[in-house]
Amino acid sequence: MLAHGRVDEGDLSAEWVFTDRHGGVSAGPYASLNVGGAVDDDPRAVGRNRAIVASYVGAESLARVHQVHGRAVARLDRVLDEPPHADASVTSTPDLALVIQTADCVPVLLADLSGGQVAGIHAGWRGVAADVVGAALDQLDPAGPVHAWVGPAICPGCYEVSEQVRDEVAAVVPAAASSTRSGTPAVDVRAGVLAQLASRGIAGTLIGGCTFESPDLFSFRRDGVTGRQAGVIVMRRRDG
Ligand SMILES: [Zn+2]
Repeated sequence: MLAHGRVDEGDLSAEWVFTDRHGGVSAGPYASLNVGGAVDDDPRAVGRNRAIVASYVGAESLARVHQVHGRAVARLDRVLDEPPHADASVTSTPDLALVIQTADCVPVLLADLSGGQVAGIHAGWRGVAADVVGAALDQLDPAGPVHAWVGPAICPGCYEVSEQVRDEVAAVVPAAASSTRSGTPAVDVRAGVLAQLASRGIAGTLIGGCTFESPDLFSFRRDGVTGRQAGVIVMRRRDG
């Protein structure tokens, strides 16, 4: 796995993980820990990989959303056979492991332990422009600090977009406007997410680096046919 951590507050704790592409059973372009189900990988391998990732946080399965680059937030209290169309999930159910699947977009994990909730968010440039981060934060009810971990994503140096896309995102979040290494228009999706968190008084912690540049991570922009890595968060209540 790429990184793993935990935060404790009173009777509650939140454990989070960002995976890399190693440690799974998928082959070829999906090698090896692909958790994405919509990328033509062997479904049995994806199922085993999801169980492996769930075990990283002591869970048996992962509660997914069907990510569509929008701003809908799904409130989950169990693992659903048919995941709802949404780009963020929120739960107040202890031991329910939420997963976000990415390969260049930003995975964001939130812990609002004072409000007894955790959340996962998927944000590419469309999600940044739609402020899916704000939509997820609207679902929280914090009386204390909200912890935010911002996982690996494509960096602006590698992420060329059209001028139109850059302008569309910049109109919403100026901090997301950027340039590639060769000086063409780019979007800095992680800077956009950090700015959206900061506008609510939340200091996000960056985890990992650029997916495009790291051979240890899946990158859709780099490889086209590829897998998805996971960001997972689970809340726990201390027994007794
Ligand atoms: Zn890069």
